[in-house]
Amino acid sequence: MSQSHSLDPIAPSATGHGGPAPQASRQALDACFLGPYGENDTMLEKLVVEFLRDHVYWRRNFHPEDPPAISTRAAQHPDYLAFEARLRGELHQLSAALKKSVPFHSPRYLGHMVSDLLIPGLAAQMLTLPYNPNNVSEDAAPVTVDMEVQVGLQLARMLGYPHDPTRVDCAFGHLTSGGTLANYQALRLALALKSFPVALRAARVPELTLPADDWAAFNLTPQAGIALLDGWQAWLAAQPVAERRRWDARVRAQQVEQLGLVDFFKAHPQLRVPIVLAPITAHYSWSKGMKLLGLGRSQLQLLPERDMRIDLHALEETLAACTRDRQPVLLAVAVLGTTEYGTIDPVDRVVDARDLHAAHGLGFGVHVDGAWGGYLATMFRNPDGSLRTLAEVREGFDSFPSDGVHAAFGALGRTDSITVDPHKLGYLPYGAGAFICRDHRAMALLAEQADYVFHDATAAGYVARYRSLGQFIPEGSKPGAAAAAAFVTHRVLPLDHANFGRLQAHTIVSAEAFHACARQFSESVSDRLHAVVPFAPDSNLVCLALNPVGNTDVSRANAFVRRLHDELRCDPSQPLQMKEFFGSVTTLRPEALGEVEMSRILSLLGLDPATMGGEHDDRLLILRHTLMNPYLIDHENGISYIDRYFDFLQRRTTALIGLDHST
Ligand SMILES: *Cc1c(COP(=O)(O)O)cnc(C)c1O
Repeated sequence: MSQSHSLDPIAPSATGHGGPAPQASRQALDACFLGPYGENDTMLEKLVVEFLRDHVYWRRNFHPEDPPAISTRAAQHPDYLAFEARLRGELHQLSAALKKSVPFHSPRYLGHMVSDLLIPGLAAQMLTLPYNPNNVSEDAAPVTVDMEVQVGLQLARMLGYPHDPTRVDCAFGHLTSGGTLANYQALRLALALKSFPVALRAARVPELTLPADDWAAFNLTPQAGIALLDGWQAWLAAQPVAERRRWDARVRAQQVEQLGLVDFFKAHPQLRVPIVLAPITAHYSWSKGMKLLGLGRSQLQLLPERDMRIDLHALEETLAACTRDRQPVLLAVAVLGTTEYGTIDPVDRVVDARDLHAAHGLGFGVHVDGAWGGYLATMFRNPDGSLRTLAEVREGFDSFPSDGVHAAFGALGRTDSITVDPHKLGYLPYGAGAFICRDHRAMALLAEQADYVFHDATAAGYVARYRSLGQFIPEGSKPGAAAAAAFVTHRVLPLDHANFGRLQAHTIVSAEAFHACARQFSESVSDRLHAVVPFAPDSNLVCLALNPVGNTDVSRANAFVRRLHDELRCDPSQPLQMKEFFGSVTTLRPEALGEVEMSRILSLLGLDPATMGGEHDDRLLILRHTLMNPYLIDHENGISYIDRYFDFLQRRTTALIGLDHST
């Protein structure tokens, strides 16, 4: 199966918005990764050795007058030698065991959301590790904690949030262990901001204009909540010290962070526990977050999907019902690249709904879970920071982005907070997630200690405030090396379409090539196999549903895909080389797709909807392919691993069907 892959948005661009910003050509991108064959081994090795030596000189030059504490003869002692032997033995075993790892770097890996690592991030991380900075605070990380604050600003710029730290309403972002904790931070911040005006009323602070009742106080928009917080802090700052302490303590005593959920809602019987709205395809970290925050999973209301996106009609109806029943809403979550399908929710329409319902007295925040798709925003951003038009972004692609996808990315700047995972499409090592909120002033509510930096509205003041990062984040000690990795990577490859965006564009080109191959595959096997791309991909994940011709039973179709997946999954009992490709699976469920969409797909596959619904077959198992490896289309050798994958599928499905017929 051949496919022309001449479309290459990675070629140097002549348009060059925003002046002489550097552009990453395809040749420059050749230097980005260690490579499937370890092609760039010399570069990485040189960097590691150079900076390890540099670290050693740093140690020696701290107080060069101090003599070495370990004697030069120590290395000859039998105990020393025995220790070293034991160490080597264990490391050899570790190294041998690790050879069973999943080959994420290979273009034969199409499984989960991981690929090769960017050398800038890997080298910066390795360089930083022996310094062991702890980004809990500047005392333990005088350098890398500032880098983490800068990473927050770099990501804010990519997303369209205010990123100038001299602006009072500048965004703020920090790293987390992953998207799960970033989503949890979103819940925590939203609850703090939503409940704060209620606490202010309860404390009877004079001279501030406060909402009329608890319901109104609990339903300010995030923006209005921040304005109130701002007014309160300004009022507090104007009080004499003793008064300031007294009033601060009085308000704190009313905050949900002090009282806990039980006593807070007991004190405000007008208020019900707020719910969180998310599409049914939302990642399970939302369920974890609800449990962790104590709101409970029952308060997570999963909305159905229509055309693989959050059903706006259902969202609208739910919000109307919430207004009617006085059911507060904490957050509406839109997903930018679902984990299972890579689909993109209409973020623009969800923020429209937020604004509309705020006008009707139901205030809530919008959080975007862009753990997967966040970095795709680089393709939508000019080097000068402006948004690219639909036509500009579309250049070089078959159909990406759809109007809806472009509108979703264009609306990111209007949302309240966003999760992005540098360890997914940022091609950085684990664990690097990120949480970014649009207006940093809200963060004061999460501070463990009184956060009395009264608007030092300078860039230095902004950074100084967040040097005690541990106050604001769910974690305590955390790796400064991860911040250094993200910072350096974003400097080497700025987060715009001319640089980092070119890597993301590769993923879309690969996905479009994959989609085209899937259509050809479907035709060429149509006499024996139904092969269907169940819905047009929004981004760089493409699914494939399969069913042998003649079978109408969902459970048999699932068994067929399961057997195929057995050949595509990690199996430590076999030598790695036995695997031709790695892939993953997901399911299609009527709850997520809607009955109409589900029956359309079943009918394309020749499956009888009546056979669906058994205990184990209430869903359809499908193949899922993550197309983020930068070498899926190997220009150097004229090889497409996508073509090869479909050759593999053709061979294996034919063999499996044959097997079926002979039993
Ligand atoms: C991966 C993912 C998460 C969870 O992120 P981790 O980094 O695995 O904690 C959350 N949401 C979405 C949409 C994801 O794809």
